[in-house]
Amino acid sequence: MTLGVGEREHTMGEIPEKHVGEAGHHKQRESSTMGLPDQVGNVARRTMEELAEDICASQGKSKFSLGPLEKVYVFWLAGMSCDGCTVSVSGATEPALEDLLTGSIPGVPLVVLHHYVLQLESGDHYIQTLINAEQGKLDGPYVLVYEGSIPDENLTVGGEPFAGEGSLPLWAPSDERRRVSTAEWMKRLGPGAAASIAIGTCATWGGIPAAYGNITGSMSLMDWMGKDYRSALGLPVINIPGCAPVGDNFTDAVQAILLFLQGLGPLPEFDELGRPAWQFSETVHTHCVRAGFYEEGTFAKEYGDKECLVEIGCWGPVVNCNITEKGAISHMGGCMNSGAPCIGCTMPGFPDKFSPFYKAPPGSLVSSNASRLLGSVVRNLRRISQRERNREIRWHDTVPSGWAMERGGTSLTHKILEVFYEAMQFQGGKAPERDPQKKFPTGYQSLPDRVYTKDYQQLPEDRVLKTEKRV
Ligand code: SF4
Ligand code: SF4
Repeated sequence: MTLGVGEREHTMGEIPEKHVGEAGHHKQRESSTMGLPDQVGNVARRTMEELAEDICASQGKSKFSLGPLEKVYVFWLAGMSCDGCTVSVSGATEPALEDLLTGSIPGVPLVVLHHYVLQLESGDHYIQTLINAEQGKLDGPYVLVYEGSIPDENLTVGGEPFAGEGSLPLWAPSDERRRVSTAEWMKRLGPGAAASIAIGTCATWGGIPAAYGNITGSMSLMDWMGKDYRSALGLPVINIPGCAPVGDNFTDAVQAILLFLQGLGPLPEFDELGRPAWQFSETVHTHCVRAGFYEEGTFAKEYGDKECLVEIGCWGPVVNCNITEKGAISHMGGCMNSGAPCIGCTMPGFPDKFSPFYKAPPGSLVSSNASRLLGSVVRNLRRISQRERNREIRWHDTVPSGWAMERGGTSLTHKILEVFYEAMQFQGGKAPERDPQKKFPTGYQSLPDRVYTKDYQQLPEDRVLKTEKRV
């Protein structure tokens, strides 16, 4: 890998000495926001970092984590975004965001999140920590997370950024106070970040803001940073796509990277597009709850039908996404579970190469008709096997069920197929011996019928007398 700008001499796995420490000494640090104007809303004047540290202290921890890394700052920046990624990640459960933010996962360092929605601090107090990061004044490494695509800020009118975060007088004494675009923050903070993570399809591949038309000149973080970009730990941009992404994919990837840096987990594997390989190597179709319908050649005709959705617009067979394994939130929901065809939202070609949505993908008729043809044979054979396997070995023509027809007669074809089936089932072995008499013959009487006859529910005479007296 080529190393880029500045002090990028670390390789993945090496943690700068200055970032290693114990929980206690952070308590004594000086406030870096002294002298800044009052904040709106933050009446307690606490910082997220102080809150996280207090939570750790209340758990009786003398160290934030088991490994050499004590804490990691995460700066969440947003470009052309709908905030859906924020909603997804705040709903993650395995692990939950709260677990990362309170140092609750053994071995994982405390995550100090700076997020424009979740933050306690506001205004310049919020921005000051980003400035500290740029100036190398943090007491831990930092990670950048970018949500939304990055617009071309040269296209704005009057210098107001399309996507900004904070306003600053502080780069240089001569600078006028101005709004700072998140693109500028990426440029300033990217080289020093331990890792840069693009969350959601807008950030990973451009997504909807970069679709045909694209009046803001939007593009993905990877395109914007360039192929030579490497973080301080030597990593290109990490991509976690989805519109919105599965929140667990983000927290799970962050956890895996942090455990590796702590020397407590294996090296996480990323594919050639920078996606966590363990999350995106298989297709939606592979784990789809409707894959059995596809295989047997039965297809939904309209929305709400229970069968495979390929003929009403599902791209699942070619789309890398694990929502069918993980669910949308807390292992529940997800597109096919809730009746929606896959529109390829995790893919670099989304949305243009998957539109118009809800129309059978070109070429899908070839495979669906092949499934239909094969399925018409396989399906019927399976029904015969299923019917036979739904019988106890005692049952023959008679099924002693009060729920259904007593006689469950079988056709001649069925019987012939079963002879072959059984021959194959026990081929090379010894079939268990069956006494035909043990099967229920036609007109079979159950044990109570035979032993007690039809009167077996009559009460004995003395009981009858007692009952009559009571009346
Ligand atoms: S609904 Fe889509 S993903 Fe599921 S089986 Fe059908 S084609 Fe595959
Ligand atoms: S199944 Fe398809 S539409 Fe649904 S999240 Fe995955 S890629 Fe997006």
